[in-house]
Amino acid sequence: MESKAVVLYATWVMVVCSALSPAAAQVSIVRQGMTEAVVVTADDAAMVATYAAQELVRHIAKATGQQLQVVTETAIPAGYVSRIFIGITEAARKQGLVREKMKPDEFVLRTVGRDLYVLGMEDKARDVVLGDPADSDWTHKVLHDGVYGYRGPSSISPNGTLFGVYEMLERYVRVRWLWPGELGTYVPRTDDVRIDDVLDEFHVPKIAWRRFAWFHLVDALRRHEAYDPRTERLAFSRQGLRNFWEATGTYLGRHRMGHSSHPPTFREEFARKPWKGEGTTLAQERPNFYAMDSAGRRWGQPGYAYNWPDMCVSNPDLHRFILEQVWDGRNTLRLGQVNTIQYCHCTRCMSWDSPQPQPDEIPQFERGAYGPRAISYRYARFWKTVYELAAKRNPNVRATALMYQTTLPAPGAIKLDEHIYGEYCPWTGPATIFPMRKPVDQWSRQQWLGHQYDLAPQPFASWLHDAVPQHPPGG
Ligand SMILES: [Zn+2]
Repeated sequence: MESKAVVLYATWVMVVCSALSPAAAQVSIVRQGMTEAVVVTADDAAMVATYAAQELVRHIAKATGQQLQVVTETAIPAGYVSRIFIGITEAARKQGLVREKMKPDEFVLRTVGRDLYVLGMEDKARDVVLGDPADSDWTHKVLHDGVYGYRGPSSISPNGTLFGVYEMLERYVRVRWLWPGELGTYVPRTDDVRIDDVLDEFHVPKIAWRRFAWFHLVDALRRHEAYDPRTERLAFSRQGLRNFWEATGTYLGRHRMGHSSHPPTFREEFARKPWKGEGTTLAQERPNFYAMDSAGRRWGQPGYAYNWPDMCVSNPDLHRFILEQVWDGRNTLRLGQVNTIQYCHCTRCMSWDSPQPQPDEIPQFERGAYGPRAISYRYARFWKTVYELAAKRNPNVRATALMYQTTLPAPGAIKLDEHIYGEYCPWTGPATIFPMRKPVDQWSRQQWLGHQYDLAPQPFASWLHDAVPQHPPGG
């Protein structure tokens, strides 16, 4: 038997349930240019299974020129060497392959005799939607709604079955999706597609939230109030934009974007009500909640330096107000500062900043970007303080914060609870240039390594979620 190497992708963990058997059966899909397999779905197939079967057939046709037949399991024609069962079928149940508890993007790859089973969780209420979405339908789900939403109501579609098919196509057909669209789809031509391994695998994504924020594109088609005609001009026409949008959605799905669970929401909490905005009076009532400028002035006083200040984050009255008046007591506590590099100059806030980094702790390439003062300790202490108070009332609470340049270097001496999430948002300087130079990349990673963070390089609109186990920085 030919033994093929098992390809393990960095973002996926594969749990092999049993050792490879020497008496390996072979799944034969196309042999010497002739079709030997039939694709089988349930009689009442979930859309994810239907779509996964289409993706399989499409790529096999590209590779071999052979069009696989797709049938339902009560109408399987005789004469095929192998059957490829896609999704949850009665046959899979009989084989005991349908796990009681599967997360939406986990999947089973299993060979039984000369047949192959590919299946993930199914939930018709959250199934993928096939067909042509309406432009105005923001909540419409096309393939993977975890991918499509950008800070909208994030929902989770069960895509495990589809991811299983992609795993197979990468491993056994050597398909590569290099960029969106046909031109970026590499399918090597072959007369033989087969699986020589005995497969008994259960795949679990290692990264819980995998998302690429392409909201400029999505907004252009779906949110008329956010529509920017420049985006359409880039695509030459509205139809061109639409084509690119669809191709990108498919491409992101093929790269297994999506959510295993609901991520907490991140936002500039202090840029909205009740803190700021039309009709809010808090700045007059509680000026000490807001950042003091370098001349000692608070909001509302003549000559105050900020027109959109961040908060006086060391103020215990502010902490109490957040907990008692703003937070709803539910599982998300949002503490994101406004998008700015200004900060409160009051004595207590300034004392919270120590220790300040030594000049040699900031590499040359970051010196212009991070200064004039590192406020990472101050903000980490703020998140920690408010989070700990909130956790006494709701132990399940997760706090979210935004991390701008001023949160570098990371506050090594403060240990943050694993329920505190930061979204790292470099918005000027070398950390926003693509491709990021290696020393910049390494230094940026080292700063918050071990904390739970998002990476939000905003100029490129990518928003990669990362769920990293909690360790002390450098630990
Ligand atoms: Zn202050």
